[in-house]
Amino acid sequence: REALLQPGDGYGRDEDRMLRPQSMADMVGQREVAKRLQIVVDAAMKRDEPLGHILFDGPPGLGKTTFATCIPKDLGVNFQLTSGPAIQAPKDLVPYLTNADERSVLFIDEIHRIPKAVEEYLYTAMEDFRIDIVLGEGTNARTINLQIKPFTLIGATTRSGMLSAPLRDRFLLREHLDFYTDDELAEIVGRNAKKLGVTIDEDAALEISKRSRSTPRVANNRLRWVRDFATSRADGHVTLELAREAMEMQAIDEMGLDKQDRGYLSTIVRVFGGGPAGIEAIAHTMNAAPDTLADEVEPFLLRTELVVRTPRGRVVTPKAMDHLKAIKWK
Ligand code: ADP
Repeated sequence: REALLQPGDGYGRDEDRMLRPQSMADMVGQREVAKRLQIVVDAAMKRDEPLGHILFDGPPGLGKTTFATCIPKDLGVNFQLTSGPAIQAPKDLVPYLTNADERSVLFIDEIHRIPKAVEEYLYTAMEDFRIDIVLGEGTNARTINLQIKPFTLIGATTRSGMLSAPLRDRFLLREHLDFYTDDELAEIVGRNAKKLGVTIDEDAALEISKRSRSTPRVANNRLRWVRDFATSRADGHVTLELAREAMEMQAIDEMGLDKQDRGYLSTIVRVFGGGPAGIEAIAHTMNAAPDTLADEVEPFLLRTELVVRTPRGRVVTPKAMDHLKAIKWK
């Protein structure tokens, strides 16, 4: 990913970027969040001031990065992007902070992955727009306190609980992104089908949406698969029947669960007698990373009540048992 993007760059080299909304007005759903953001964006523009810092949290694929890229475009300011794993020491952050133009946006994805020392370094940068930098090395090293341009930090995290309270408190707005309705996803699928140059029946768009785990990123990926399927197997037009056939071929069931989702549920059933089972043990049995399960698999299963969390671990629900029994795949 590029470190520095200018407004109007298009961000559009591949399809992922092409499908990403270019302004908040293009975004579907999340209306309450968008309304609040619109207010602070308008106010910042009217007062000619930098926008306050904003934190987005929620499961992957729900639009955190999309909001973070649309806001600077709507403001007409420059944008820099980095992520928690890339910032392992204050010195990794310095170039971004010293490069930041007045009122520009610095987006840090997976901000919960920055180490404590970096968090502390960020406090003063966010609050006073001042940072300490070390010049020289060894015995010649000296620290100077540098004024930086007032900028806006946008953070995104799947685990807001992992941020320290002082860091969380330095965000003016903290917005939680929730799952999308099937109708919202169908609107995204319909629009993106056009962008991808494929025609699709309304019921087919809704079918793809229902099988997309209430997540725009998943809906886009499913749509791209269905488009390829339509091109290869038919004349390129997507009907309901064709969409279903394409989903079947990927073993995506009627609830939108894929092999990994069902593997998680059936592991708890098969190996742990339905639970309670600890996430580490489940991950180990599945040969998967616990973080992947917690961030990408569990949120939708929890929300649809296929699994519940108890103090002693995860437990599958009767609804999950019925679902696993009713479908033909493992
Ligand atoms: P996150 O940063 O939360 O993981 P992204 O912002 O990268 O999620 O969203 C993944 C993709 O889903 C985006 O590239 C975009 O195409 C699509 N998307 C997300 N939110 C919306 C939305 N509100 N309206 C339309 N498309 C969206």
